[in-house]
Amino acid sequence: MPHNEVRKDYLLDRWVVIAKERGRRPTDFAKKERQQAKMSVCPMCPGNEHMTPPAVLAYLRSQRQLVKVSDDGHQRHKDWLVRVVPNLYPAFAPPEKKQTKKQQSVMHNNLMLALGHHEVLIESPVHDEHPADARIPQLILVINAYIDRLRELSKKPYVKYVSIFRNHGLEAGASLSHAHSQIIATPTIPRTVNEEMEASKKFHKQHHECAFCNIVETEKRGTRLVMENSEFVAFAPYASVHPTEFWIAPKKHEMNLLNLKKNEIQLFAETMKKCLCGLKQLVNDPPYNYGFHLTTAEEAKDYYHWHLEVYPKLAVWAGFELSTGMFINTVTPEAAAESLRNVIS
Ligand SMILES: [Zn+2]
Ligand SMILES: [Zn+2]
Ligand SMILES: [Zn+2]
Repeated sequence: MPHNEVRKDYLLDRWVVIAKERGRRPTDFAKKERQQAKMSVCPMCPGNEHMTPPAVLAYLRSQRQLVKVSDDGHQRHKDWLVRVVPNLYPAFAPPEKKQTKKQQSVMHNNLMLALGHHEVLIESPVHDEHPADARIPQLILVINAYIDRLRELSKKPYVKYVSIFRNHGLEAGASLSHAHSQIIATPTIPRTVNEEMEASKKFHKQHHECAFCNIVETEKRGTRLVMENSEFVAFAPYASVHPTEFWIAPKKHEMNLLNLKKNEIQLFAETMKKCLCGLKQLVNDPPYNYGFHLTTAEEAKDYYHWHLEVYPKLAVWAGFELSTGMFINTVTPEAAAESLRNVIS
């Protein structure tokens, strides 16, 4: 019997068995019914603003102008377009005013306080306006809100990383079905991003080139391309861990989203929508997670290149994956890209 391939991630020391011989297609994972979070009252829907903590940021429309505001104490702004509120059960919280710098800092080499921020970004006043179906102007507002929060949170002295991510569907961890993303600012750089940064730095030192610019060039011309436009490339990564996984990366070398121009934000919104809509059609609105990888560390600006990673939740990680950190993917990225390409075009 011919062997499967074991592939290594572009940068991470992470290996995945690409089970070619199983020959599965993304559509094999389409389910008739998807589990939905059930609830009687949606705390994120307009009119229920009092059910959330005061917004740290809300976009309002006033005489055709976009106005950015925050809630104050008991008052809640209504008629918002996008709203960002602190999570009711934050994993990371800001330092208390009376805490000294020393109390805030690392206490031991294996212990630190969970200082940071944990926010929920309500993407639309329309309950079901998920990115796959969103109006492009609304998706542009969402991306602008990501940028605003990234700018604000990355300035805080106790914040070392800002993770912007989205859980879609109950099985992917979204306990509320209203369209929303989350933002977690952490006091340390999480492992995966740190490892990617270290490997990118090493690559840059050796080749005098950004690893991701190189990946974008290669994938643009290969069989794993999902789609491209003048500014962005979407592709199924060479060592995809998840069936039908895809990444979106800018062609322009940038370490984060803070310098995106208006037309770039528009094209990013269009790319996101096309790809997520393709995934939705292909596998019947599967649960998925996505997360940005980026950095705001000035010293990384030459070697790190931001991107969005999308992980459809179609397989169950079991004993082997959990106990070894090695993965088995039964859909080849080449087959995933082909299916996505076909449904998008
Ligand atoms: Zn709702
Ligand atoms: Zn680059
Ligand atoms: Zn990455």
